Amino acid sequence: MDKSEVFERLNNTGTMPTPSRVALEIMRLSRDNASSMQDIAEVVETDPALSSKLLQYANSALVSPVTHIASIPKATVQLGMKTVVNLALGFSLLSQNKNGICKDFAYQTFWSYSLARAIASRSLAQFENGLEPDELFVCGLLSNIGSLALASHYPEEYSLIFSEKLNRAALLSREKEQFGIDHLELSGELFKSWGLPDYYSEAVSLSEDDVLNNLGDNTLKVHKVLILAGLVAEICMLEMPLHDKITSAEERARSFDLEESDFADIFNTIVENWQRWGHIFQVPTKECPLFQQIKELQDERPSQPESDQDEHIKILLVDDDPMTILNLSNLLQNKGKEVFTAENGEDALRIAIENEPHMVITDWRMPKISGIELCRILRNTSITQHIYIIMLTGRESDEEMVEALESGADDFINKPFTPSVLTARIASGERIIRYQQMIYRDREVIQKYAARLASANRKLQTMAMTDALTGLPNRRSALARLKDVVAEANRHDEPLSCIMIDIDHFKYINDSHGHDIGDSVLKKISDLFSSNARSYDMVSRIGGEEFLVICARSTLEESRHLAERLRVAVEKMKIIENEEMITTTISLGVGVWHEAMRDGEAMIKSADRALYKAKQLGRNRVEVEDSLD
Ligand code: GH3
Ligand code: MG
Ligand code: MG
Repeated sequence: MDKSEVFERLNNTGTMPTPSRVALEIMRLSRDNASSMQDIAEVVETDPALSSKLLQYANSALVSPVTHIASIPKATVQLGMKTVVNLALGFSLLSQNKNGICKDFAYQTFWSYSLARAIASRSLAQFENGLEPDELFVCGLLSNIGSLALASHYPEEYSLIFSEKLNRAALLSREKEQFGIDHLELSGELFKSWGLPDYYSEAVSLSEDDVLNNLGDNTLKVHKVLILAGLVAEICMLEMPLHDKITSAEERARSFDLEESDFADIFNTIVENWQRWGHIFQVPTKECPLFQQIKELQDERPSQPESDQDEHIKILLVDDDPMTILNLSNLLQNKGKEVFTAENGEDALRIAIENEPHMVITDWRMPKISGIELCRILRNTSITQHIYIIMLTGRESDEEMVEALESGADDFINKPFTPSVLTARIASGERIIRYQQMIYRDREVIQKYAARLASANRKLQTMAMTDALTGLPNRRSALARLKDVVAEANRHDEPLSCIMIDIDHFKYINDSHGHDIGDSVLKKISDLFSSNARSYDMVSRIGGEEFLVICARSTLEESRHLAERLRVAVEKMKIIENEEMITTTISLGVGVWHEAMRDGEAMIKSADRALYKAKQLGRNRVEVEDSLD
C-alpha cells in the first residue's frame, strides 16, 4: 500500500489532527475566488484567541518592528491573506493538540521543539531568495505533525516504539514497517490534505539522509531551511548540546552564506523569540545560554577519548572494614584506576547510580545490606545491571557460593588475597568490560546501517513500482493492485471495473513536435488523469501511451462516467509547448469484473477489446464491454 493510501485510511478514522472550525472556514474562504480579505478578517474575528495571537504575531519583532497594528483587518493586510490562512492553521493545531492519549509521547516537548523550529525557519528563510518567511514559520511549526498524528492514532504501539529510544533513521524505518508510513511522510500527506503548496509537503516528507534528486528548487530551499532550523531547535532543547550538533549547524549555516558571528546573532535572536512565543502559546521553553557561551562550554569539556583503551576504568569498592578499603584503593589508584569507596550497601547503591562504575568489588558479609543482596539489586536496576561484580569471600560453604553466583556475581576472590591475584582478576574483568563496550558500539553501528539499508530498500521498491517519466504507478504496480482489488471485490461482493486508455495518434505528436515534447505531453495528460480521478481510483501507466485506471468499488456505469469525464478533460486541454498549441484526444475502453472471470487480467482484456472498438469507431470516444468472452 503506498503512503497516500495509508494516509487516506488513517484520515478516514477521524483521529488525525484537525484544524479548528474557524481555521477550516478560513481555509475554505481562501480557496474561494469570490471571497475578499475582509471576509477572512471577519471570520478570524469570531475567534478571540486566534485574533489575539494573530495581532501579537503581526506586531511582534518577527514581522514589523515599528508599526503598531491594532485591528484584524489591518493585520490581514499587513501579513497577506496566505499567511493569515497558514497561521490560523498552525495556531489552531497547536492549541488543540497540547495534550493527548499517547502515554510516552511528550506533547509539551513536541510543541516546544516545533515552536523553536518554526521561529528558526522563519529567520533562516530570509537568507534564501524566494521563500516566504511567514509561510516557513508555519511549515517549521507543523513539520513534525506526522509524529503527533501517529501518537494519536496508535497511542499504545507508538508508546512502545518510543520506549525503544531509537535513533532518527531507525525510528523512521520502524514506523514505516509497522504503520506503512513514517512520520515525515505522514506530515507531507497532512500538508497536502490542508492544501499547502507541494514544495512544503515534499520538503517536510524528506529525511535528512534522503537523496535529493529530481526535486524542485523551492523544495530544496525549504528542505535546507528546515534541516538547519531543526538543528537549531535541538540545540535550544538539549541540556548539554552535543558537540557534533553545533559543528554541523555551523557547517550548514555556511551554505547560507552566513559568517560564524552572523549565525551566532541569529541563533541568539531565535532563542529570544522562542521564549517570548513560548510564553504567548504557553508552551514550555528553556533558558538557553548565548551561542558564544554554548561554544565555550563545549570547548572546555574534555574531548571524548579516541578509544576505550584510553578511558580509565572506574571501580567501586564496598567493604565495612576501613583498612581493607584503604589498602585496596591505594593499590588500584597506583594502577591508574578511578576509585570510589563505600562502607555499606546503601552508600554503594547511591554511588553506583551516580557514577556508573564499570566494576564493583564488594565484601560478602556486611551489616544491613549484604554483598549478595547488593549484587541482586545492582543486577535488577537498569543503570547498574551491566556492572562487572567481584565478590570478596571468606570461608563460605558451597551452598552459599552457589547462591552468590545466582545473585549475579561475576567472579570471586578469597580473602586474604595477594595483590598479584587481585590485579590479575581485575585485568580479566576489564577484558570483559571492553568486549561488552565493543559489542555496544558495534550494535549501534549495525543499527545505523540497518536503518540506511531499510531506507535504500524502500527507495528501490518505490522505484521498481513507479514509472519514471510520469511518476504514476507502473504496470507491475497496477497488476499487484489488481490482485488485491479482485480479492476484495469477491470477499465483499462489491462491483469492480477498469478503464484502458490510449492516446490517439500519439505517433503524430512525436513526429511533428519531437520526442521531448511528446514526453511532456504524456506527463501533462498523466497529471490531468490524476487530478480528475477519484481518491479510490488507481491511475497507472502500463505502456508507452497507454494507461489503466482501476476503479475499485465501481460499477460499469460509474466507470463509464469517469471515462467520459477524462475524455472531455483531455479534449479540452490545451498544451502550449515552444509557443505552439498542441491538442489531442484519447480513446477509452471500460471493462467490468464478473465472478466468472479467471483473474483480473481477464477484466483488463475485456477493457482492451472495448478500447479497440473505440479506435475502430473513430477514436476520441468511450466504449464499454460487459460480455464474458
Ligand atoms: P492510435 O490512435 O492508433 O493509438 O495511434 P498512435 O500513433 O497513438 O499509436 P501507435 O501505437 O502507432 O504509436 C504509439 C506511439 O507512442 C509510438 C511511440 O513512439 C510513442 N511512444 C511510446 N512511448 C513513448 C514515450 O515514452 N515518449 C514519447 N515521446 N513517445 C512514446
Ligand atoms: Mg498504443
Ligand atoms: Mg495511441
